[in-house]
Amino acid sequence: MYAGEIVEEGPVAEVFARPRHPYTAALIASAPEGVSAHLAAIPGTVPLPDALPIGCNFAPRCACVAAPCHTAKPALAEVSPGRASRCFRWKEVA
Ligand code: SF4
Repeated sequence: MYAGEIVEEGPVAEVFARPRHPYTAALIASAPEGVSAHLAAIPGTVPLPDALPIGCNFAPRCACVAAPCHTAKPALAEVSPGRASRCFRWKEVA
């Protein structure tokens, strides 16, 4: 969930192994592991409900943002059987 919307769906093991939304990927990357001195953080803050961006709600914070992300809202769409992502660039999410 991000800004009140589902951004990714799928079996837990598959989502953790290969996220298909940049927010999911960033959340997984921010999980503490071992004794690392640094925790990865997602820059910025969640937009207020009355101040959502015109395009993708995650665009101001997204590491994968591209021009189309600023002009249209992605729909939650199937990316493979049992998996869905609300991202124009889901194929490029590592
Ligand atoms: S649609 Fe664009 S801004 Fe939104 S999550 Fe995907 S890459 Fe990022």
